[in-house]
Amino acid sequence: MLSGECNCGKVMFEAHTHTTDVYVCHCSICRRHTGTIGNAVVVVEKDAFRWVSGEHEICTWRKPGHDWQIWFCRTCGSQVPGENDERRMFVPAGLISVGAENLRVAHHIWVDSRASWDEIGPSGRRHAEEFRKGS
Ligand SMILES: [Zn+2]
Ligand SMILES: [Zn+2]
Repeated sequence: MLSGECNCGKVMFEAHTHTTDVYVCHCSICRRHTGTIGNAVVVVEKDAFRWVSGEHEICTWRKPGHDWQIWFCRTCGSQVPGENDERRMFVPAGLISVGAENLRVAHHIWVDSRASWDEIGPSGRRHAEEFRKGS
């Protein structure tokens, strides 16, 4: 099981999953959002995900003209889990406080968009743009 919380502790969540895959996105939108190389998330089935507290503390913002939305704590500004697609949630890997020891970077996406100073580590497959199975 994975569980975690935002910086102020109001938003707490848990996910019953055996996944160990971390996806690192190097796109310019994630980069601006975090102020660093991009974003690192774990993707879990919605059925396996549960808010423990603070769901009403969450704000969202959608970037106009893009298929990109972010969920964040209105008190501390930490990124929090959000909807990945109709059946799955994404969980920001850095929020995970229990269960993180087994996580490994499995995929780097939007590698061709990375910052000039972004040095990608040895772990994980590289995808020039969005994630594609098998590539
Ligand atoms: Zn917070
Ligand atoms: Zn991105």
